[in-house]
Amino acid sequence: MTDFLSEIGSGPKLRRASRSAKVVYGTREVLVGGGAPVVVQSMTNTDTADVIGTAIQIKELARAGSELVRITVNNAEAAAAVPAIREQLDRMGIDVPLVGDFHYNGHTLLNDFPDCARALSKYRINPGNVGQGAKRDTQFAQMIEMACRYDKPVRIGVNWGSLDQALLARIMDDNARRPTPWSVQAVMYQALITSAIESAQKAEELGLAGDKIILSCKVSGVQDLIAVYRELAARCDYPLHLGLTEAGMGSKGIVASTAALSVLMQEGIGDTIRISLTPEPGGDRCKEVIVGQEILQTMGLRKFTPMVIACPGCGRTTSTVFQELADDIQSFLRNQMPVWKSQYPGVENMNVAVMGCIVNGPGESKHANIGISLPGTGESPAAPVFIDGAKALTLRGDRIAEEFQDIVLEYVKSHYAPVHGVINN
Ligand code: SF4
Repeated sequence: MTDFLSEIGSGPKLRRASRSAKVVYGTREVLVGGGAPVVVQSMTNTDTADVIGTAIQIKELARAGSELVRITVNNAEAAAAVPAIREQLDRMGIDVPLVGDFHYNGHTLLNDFPDCARALSKYRINPGNVGQGAKRDTQFAQMIEMACRYDKPVRIGVNWGSLDQALLARIMDDNARRPTPWSVQAVMYQALITSAIESAQKAEELGLAGDKIILSCKVSGVQDLIAVYRELAARCDYPLHLGLTEAGMGSKGIVASTAALSVLMQEGIGDTIRISLTPEPGGDRCKEVIVGQEILQTMGLRKFTPMVIACPGCGRTTSTVFQELADDIQSFLRNQMPVWKSQYPGVENMNVAVMGCIVNGPGESKHANIGISLPGTGESPAAPVFIDGAKALTLRGDRIAEEFQDIVLEYVKSHYAPVHGVINN
């Protein structure tokens, strides 16, 4: 009998086969590529020379779930601060590997600050920003030499805002000689991909192992990113770091990143992601981590935190009770995860439904592990709670939110606490 799902096709394509790069700090190993789960990473926006401020932000990003954190290392003060940041993180019990982001002077900083070179777990090199003319190759080689000396992986991260101009000129000249020249857009794609792959090949010629190289080619347009990565993925087997550069603020940044990354990951392309959101003034930097996790989780690629399914609300539920409950329970679940992750293994598989009225409330609630159907306008002020598909009780009064949270907590304890070393799922 033909399986209906295989007939209609469901789920992402098989992951693209790639080498596996290991990013290590102490006993913590983060695998990128080689079929490992897609890694979520982030970047600080503090002044790296501010040791305490940077360490605190790294801690927040790591606690939100960032599995690698990148910091800019832009001058001597920043390079000198890196070992102190690492020590501060050690004191705070944070073992997230740190990635150093270098431009223009990375070769000098890594040479002059060996403790910085050791404290970082990976170096990001932008081949468009390592130097001009004859210096370019020498300075790139010096950075690769440092990576070899300290046994660190590198990300060769090309960005179309800082494309290697000499390489672009070469590709444009080649194009001009074609009987039918390519479009400007195609030339740009070719330049990005060539820069990444030729730099990686050069790094290997210089002695860096092929499994210590991750590639990225970031652009800011969704269709451009998809086209570039499809081609990059076809032309090499290095693990790929995905990200839409300068994605923007608020919903635009989230939507653009989601659109681009989802298409690629559905095609099996991408081994680590970073969501480059511009934070709102005073906004939380951890949002980029949460968005990255939510993209992976809603696509069914990874699980990080229990999912809250909530209806959008409509004219049938005009009070804000249901919106507040959905928001409260979502924040509650996310805030518990740093502790729950180890205390209640498998809890990230839990689904909680918060529904606004009787139309879809009971039905959707029955599909979740725990669901609540709040009373819509004109309905009797009672909120039936469903546990594992069956109606368990009805909440009433003005303490519905607190009582529902207690029920969720009780469910977590009774279903996910390991019993005699056996892990529930
Ligand atoms: S469940 Fe009720 S309140 Fe929610 S969207 Fe549907 S009809 Fe509207």
